[in-house]
Amino acid sequence: MAEDARRAELAANLAAVRARIAAACATVGRDPADVTLIAVTKGHPPADVAHLAALGVWDVAENRDAEAAAKARECAALRLRWHFVGQIQTNKARSVVSYADVVHALDRERLVRALDAAVLADPHLVQARDDLPGEGLAVLLQIDLDSRPGAGTSGGAGGRGGIAPEQVSSLAATVDRAEGLVLRGVMAIAPRKVPAGPAFARLAEISAQLRSRYPSASWISAGMSSDLHDAVRAGATHVRVGRSLLGPRPLTR
Ligand SMILES: *Cc1c(COP(=O)(O)O)cnc(C)c1O
Repeated sequence: MAEDARRAELAANLAAVRARIAAACATVGRDPADVTLIAVTKGHPPADVAHLAALGVWDVAENRDAEAAAKARECAALRLRWHFVGQIQTNKARSVVSYADVVHALDRERLVRALDAAVLADPHLVQARDDLPGEGLAVLLQIDLDSRPGAGTSGGAGGRGGIAPEQVSSLAATVDRAEGLVLRGVMAIAPRKVPAGPAFARLAEISAQLRSRYPSASWISAGMSSDLHDAVRAGATHVRVGRSLLGPRPLTR
């Protein structure tokens, strides 16, 4: 597809996604300006990232380190805000920290230590970023909304990653002690087998509790192409949208 046709397609998709966000906001009296749209560009070429930036989308997300690192390098001149939304192996922490502004899927103490060490080893990477309040790498705790009390930790059968709600306060305290990290809130992926609305409402409760202790933790990253309506209604501050914005993912993964 010619690049100008692709840009027009992305512009139309963007308008439709923004309209969905605005419609969801209207049902609960929220201001659409309080919802940040993050474009999940995994599987799509850097040219799409450039089109989106030209259309005013500066928040971009990836979920695999190698693809993200290459894309962030190619798009460095655009001064985007890069969100890492995938699981992170601890041996990739240094690489992720070298381009990411926000890490969404923090789910274990070891990863806190690895990210913190990576930031402190390379503090200029983080201090160069003026957009984020506080100093340090912004991190969100991934909450497993599938988890049942006593069912154990992250990655349980059918789970979509993240920590059980009862583990939030201890992981939050660990992040709070990490000099290189700033606790910015929570993130979740809707469970597959239950309705998204009540799951996101539970996430909002967890967020409120966390925020009462850590005022900086005000972000709720929730909602993807299929469930952004429910997420926005429940209070999501950041939605992560791939397919509705960019279409099917063309690159082999
Ligand atoms: C891929 C992905 C998204 C976007 O999903 P779509 O269904 O394409 O909107 C959001 N969040 C995470 C963590 C993802 O991996």
